[in-house]
Amino acid sequence: MPVGGSPVRPPIQRCSSQHRVRKSFTLLHRCVQILLAVFQSGDHCDLEQPRNALSWLEPCVQGYLLDIAADLVVVAACAFDSDTKHWLFATSWRDLQSLASQCPHPHGTHPPIHGVDPETGNFRSRASAQFLVALARKYVEAITSLFSPTGWGRHL
Ligand SMILES: [Zn+2]
Repeated sequence: MPVGGSPVRPPIQRCSSQHRVRKSFTLLHRCVQILLAVFQSGDHCDLEQPRNALSWLEPCVQGYLLDIAADLVVVAACAFDSDTKHWLFATSWRDLQSLASQCPHPHGTHPPIHGVDPETGNFRSRASAQFLVALARKYVEAITSLFSPTGWGRHL
């Protein structure tokens, strides 16, 4: 029997996971600080994340929502012919309300985006991380008036 008990190994996976969470929080916190700086300089800003993201509950994000008196604009992916998810924009630019939409389908109509796709091995949410072209076009349409013909913008 070995003396001193079983060897102690560092929890590599756990540290890696904690590192990713810390890095993600740092990025979120810095993004929010930049958005607040833009807003405080008199311009407009918005933060977009999935509707059910836990990051909405972070104190820095809650402070951002209050500081800019954010409009919370929920956009259903199925309004743009996709099955993927809902986006949530927290914005100071009221014209982004034109993006708002609701899913008219019964619960369970759309496939879940959580978990791993057994066919590809990738997280299902991965495919939903990018904006749909139709949504991107409508977004650009909603913010275009913020930009002058010289390209100087007032939105981040
Ligand atoms: Zn739907």
